[in-house]
Amino acid sequence: MKNFKYSVADSLDSAKTALMERSNCRIIGGGTNLIDLMRENIEQPDEIVDVSRLSKQIQQLDDGALRIDAAVKNTELANHPKVRENFPVLSHAIVYGASGQIRNVATVAGNIMQRTRCMYFYDDAAACNKRVPGSGCDAINGINRGHAIFGTSTSCIATHPSDMCIALRILDTKINLESSKGKRTVDFADFHRLPGDTPHLETDLMPGEIITSIDIAHSARGSSTYRKIRDRSSYAFALVSVACILSIKDEIVEDIAIALGGVAHKPWRADILESYLRGTPATEGRFKEAIDREMEAAVGFKHNEFKIELTKRTIFSVLSELKTEENSK
Ligand SMILES: Cc1cc2nc3c(=O)[nH]c(=O)nc-3n(C[C@H](O)[C@H](O)[C@H](O)COP(=O)(O)OP(=O)(O)OC[C@H]3O[C@@H](n4cnc5c(N)ncnc54)[C@H](O)[C@@H]3O)c2cc1C
Ligand code: SF4
Repeated sequence: MKNFKYSVADSLDSAKTALMERSNCRIIGGGTNLIDLMRENIEQPDEIVDVSRLSKQIQQLDDGALRIDAAVKNTELANHPKVRENFPVLSHAIVYGASGQIRNVATVAGNIMQRTRCMYFYDDAAACNKRVPGSGCDAINGINRGHAIFGTSTSCIATHPSDMCIALRILDTKINLESSKGKRTVDFADFHRLPGDTPHLETDLMPGEIITSIDIAHSARGSSTYRKIRDRSSYAFALVSVACILSIKDEIVEDIAIALGGVAHKPWRADILESYLRGTPATEGRFKEAIDREMEAAVGFKHNEFKIELTKRTIFSVLSELKTEENSK
């Protein structure tokens, strides 16, 4: 790990100025991902600016949306009464991630910006287009058990590791960004990218920009859950995860939102499945047909073919559970 300068931002303005004026400067939240990457020399900033002491509010806006500041800790967000009441799927997803100790220091923005857990990305002896553009991808013909089955490219088959982001993907989430050039807001759906031929560009964040907060507008209707399938029951990243909100009225699917984790370079919204089911009878047969349609685009690699069947079964199990819950209301 190389030497670096560390400072604490006492205001958003000072963090923005540091990012704009000082070269090779990075910001840090809880440090649970960035410091690991620095230890492995995957990231080598000359300076890090700590933004974890900036505003940590969770507030209801006039239009009813919940605004969550970027420095809010994962634990605080998961436990917040308004989140537990209005967005239980978000609360569940967060507590399925990492460990209590990590969630106590990890921030909302840091979670959104965390980088892939592809082992070749962390191994500087391996070819990795994400770490060194143009160097190749050792995962494609390597040990790719944890890798993606949707939206892959010939450059990269890595997954996004976050649990929290899978829940945010089914809520109506926006990300508020600021730099010394101004402010902008982007839809969460457009923030993370698929790898294409530029897997080193993972998000829509521009140089000098900071995530200041996120807004969640969707007041989730129906029953919801987050299901995470992993190799051991704690402290492991998802092989497959499913976040879902399902509303059934008079045995018809009134509304559905479903996103998948552990299967793509970004949180994967199952749009095809949703449109097939919305407004139609909530039967097991239709669930299976919708799942098959969604999964047509899935492509496995040597060691992760099993994820296709695992994803199908996990979605079916989640839909069946939520249907029972809806029918018992
Ligand atoms: C052992 C272990 C197990 C884990 N298991 C899981 C798991 O099962 N599920 C899961 O979801 N996660 C898991 N994680 C990952 C963990 O959730 C992330 O490390 C954490 O959320 C990152 O948050 P942070 O604040 O510490 O980020 P940092 O490490 O501080 O930063 C991460 C990135 O975010 C950027 N950043 C920070 N703040 C901002 C901002 N305001 N604007 C723009 N960019 C910003 C930093 O520059 C950096 O690039 C695990 C981590 C570890 C170490
Ligand atoms: S899958 Fe992506 S992150 Fe992993 S080695 Fe290939 S290019 Fe690198």
